[in-house]
Amino acid sequence: MEIKRNILLNPGPATTTDTVKMAQLVPDICPRETEFVKMMHKIRKDLVQVVHGDLEKYTSVLFCGSGTMIMDVCLNSLLPEGKKILIINNGAYSARAVEICEFYGLPMLELKFPVDQTPDLSIVDETLKDNQEIALVYATHNETGTGILNPIREIGALAHKHGAVFVADTIASYGMLPIDIEKDQIDFCMASAQKGLMAMTGLSFVVGNTALIQQSAQYPKRSYYCNLYLQYRFFEEKGEMHFTPPVQTIYALRQALDEYFAEGEEAKWKRHLSVFEEIHTGLKRLGFRDLIRRELQAGLVVAVQYPDDENWNFEQIHDYCYERGFTIYPGKIAEQNTFRLCALGAITPSDIQQFFAILEEGLRYYKIQIPVLYQ
Ligand SMILES: *Cc1c(COP(=O)(O)O)cnc(C)c1O
Repeated sequence: MEIKRNILLNPGPATTTDTVKMAQLVPDICPRETEFVKMMHKIRKDLVQVVHGDLEKYTSVLFCGSGTMIMDVCLNSLLPEGKKILIINNGAYSARAVEICEFYGLPMLELKFPVDQTPDLSIVDETLKDNQEIALVYATHNETGTGILNPIREIGALAHKHGAVFVADTIASYGMLPIDIEKDQIDFCMASAQKGLMAMTGLSFVVGNTALIQQSAQYPKRSYYCNLYLQYRFFEEKGEMHFTPPVQTIYALRQALDEYFAEGEEAKWKRHLSVFEEIHTGLKRLGFRDLIRRELQAGLVVAVQYPDDENWNFEQIHDYCYERGFTIYPGKIAEQNTFRLCALGAITPSDIQQFFAILEEGLRYYKIQIPVLYQ
């Protein structure tokens, strides 16, 4: 079967390999069968392995849903009675965590920093010192709205210094940027199958400290479907999700994990970095400006400023590229007009070269000046 290859430069879902797509075509199976349970067991271990977690200390728990679901799970499940969450917010994805806390009515302190800068660690330290009731610290690794890389290891160390648990949103970076859960001072890191692992949508998971999950059995249960401890206990007792899992999506993840380990952590990250470099080369050639200082970028996402050209219309350029097999994505920054190009997925620098040839064609077609104009 020939499947058209689209190059997705949006921040997930990612371009997948044909072998991952085809892995979904399996004989019908009831997920309660031993065969399936065995596969789940291996997947749970492999997910811990991706971040080099010691299986004696860390476990993984999967949920059926997009990445935001696992954010919801971690936030609603890991806060003890009478304690507070500290959210470090320098972008749209941390702002989402703030919203989740608000929806659950969780006691929360929000530390807001400018979106184009990394958080001021001395303020984080002071805040933790002055607020002993903070039991959970939350930060985003790669802020996907801007592409900024946050210093999670340092934030985790501060959380631990003050006796708090550290939850990192590594949804964009897991399986991309090498992460070492213990060295990086992470108690819980989250991810979703459709991002760094280049599998399908609809499956997300957390890799976390097993003792802390067990401890959370005593915390208030704020959700029925999305409670971390209840799902963990079911996995431990029955080896599977509490409710019907996305069966075919899990077969695709199995294949994607095999391909992940075959490519290798370092080689894979090198490939993504070379894609990222090629994106910068193309942008520079056409005169585009990025929003975040280059040295602060994680290597995953480039937020590009709209040119000041009266003929510029993002939707038109998007459609021009889309019709030719390339997907670009609008920005997520309130005060700035940006679009995003991401180095995620089963793509190579030559795909990016082809993309920029199409983009240039599109700019000429719509009579946008090259190099693009800024005031
Ligand atoms: C993609 C992403 C999410 C989750 O988004 P979904 O659309 O729910 O999958 C959360 N945080 C970050 C940093 C992300 O990149």
